[in-house]
This record gives sequence, C-alpha cells and structure tokens, in this order.
Amino acid sequence: MIVLKSARELEIMKEAGRISAGALMEVGKYVRPGVSTLELDEICYDYIKSQGAEPNFLHLYDFPNTACISVNDEIIHGIPSKNRILKEGDIVSVDTGAKIDGYNGDNAYTFYVGEVSPEVQRLCETTREALLIGIQQAVPGNRVGDIGAAIQEYCESRGYGVVREYEGHGIGTKLHEEPGVPNFGRPHKGVRLLPGMTIAIEPMINMGTAKIKQLPGDEWTVFTADGKPSAHYEHSIAITEDGPVILTPRPTLD
Ligand code: MG
Repeated sequence: MIVLKSARELEIMKEAGRISAGALMEVGKYVRPGVSTLELDEICYDYIKSQGAEPNFLHLYDFPNTACISVNDEIIHGIPSKNRILKEGDIVSVDTGAKIDGYNGDNAYTFYVGEVSPEVQRLCETTREALLIGIQQAVPGNRVGDIGAAIQEYCESRGYGVVREYEGHGIGTKLHEEPGVPNFGRPHKGVRLLPGMTIAIEPMINMGTAKIKQLPGDEWTVFTADGKPSAHYEHSIAITEDGPVILTPRPTLD
C-alpha cells in the first residue's frame, strides 16, 4: 500500500530529513585517514540524539548500528567497526536516518578519504549526478520506471554497473514503504507517481560489474563481485504539484 502524506505530515518529514542530513554533514567533518568506521557511527548517533530524534537504522531488522558504513568495494550495509580504519584514497559510503514524531528520514553520501584517484572521483560524481537526474523525474504523472531508466541510462552510458538487487523505497511512518524504486527500468512503466508520495532514491553504482557478492559469516555487507569500488548517494524526497522537494538537503556537502 502506498501512503500519501498530508501537508502536515510533510512538515514532520522535513524535520526528520533535516536531522538525517545533519548527521551526514556532521560525519563529513570527521572523515579522514586514521578514523574508524565505528567512530563515524558514534558521531551519527550522538548527532541524531542531540536533535531529539531516534536513530532509525539501529536494531531495524537487527542491524546493530546507527549507520551503514561501506568502504571501497562494499556497496551497502557495511557494519561499523573499531578495527576498520580509513586510509588515504578510500571512499566511504555512510547511510543513516532519523525518526522524529513518528516519521522517518533516510539518506546516504559517499565521502572521499583524503585524495582519491580521478577514476574514483568520476564514479562518485556520476552517482551523485545520477541521484539528481533521478529526482528530476519524480514528478506527478511520471512513473517509477522513469526514475530508474534515467539513472540507469546515465550511469551505463558512462560505463558503470547499476546494482539490481537493492533499490530505493517509499518512506514515511516506516523506513521502508511501498513502492520500491529501482535504479534501472523502463520509461513510463511501474507505479504512477502522485503528489504526497514520499520516496527515497538511492543509486548504488559500481565502477565495474553490476554483480554483487556476500561473504560467509557476514549476512549484512554487500560487496561488488569484482572488488572494484562502488558509490551510493541517497535523498528522501516528496513528490508535489510543484515538483520534487528534497527532504534531506545537505548544503555543506552537495
Ligand atoms: Mg534508503
């Protein structure tokens, strides 16, 4: 079931989104060689709590932390660890969200650790642009397939792999609601977009193959099958008569 949100509900979702984005902007101040992914997770937790909100990833589906933190060839769902120390040239994707007054925010950003190679920068810039291109398609009358097709076309034209197994989603009183929002698809296909729908769009784009793998003993972390890096950017947005509204703006990052 797709839940349309009222103007009053959208105001609360803007607050949830503001805090979710604030957590990413706060983390961004601390991303550098030598920091552990667990330290970044704790910064997220402390920020969200300081805003009077709850970390909505924590314990959801038994996930143990506030943020999914995924390094280099980890696509998504990396588990923060004190033993995972970032080093110069890494990229680190942080995915986190906050819940306040019963409503959720969700967003993700791939940070550079120090200087990264031009090839990796191009991957990240393409993924960030793909997110914005997808958001532009999130207008009443379009369909979910218009979002996915735009993201897929842009990224594949640049030679990158578009992850198929994971996708964006509706968001509201639940972190994950209908509809699913794939990063691939066909124009004019799928669920029709209506004013009042709130969705998270989140391209996960691989430098090489689109194929994924998981490792024994870790049911969370999703890796690229070929070990090449992957980038992940996400916004929660509202579909309105006036066009898409980003609920998780991050002026110090984008
Ligand atoms: Mg999400």
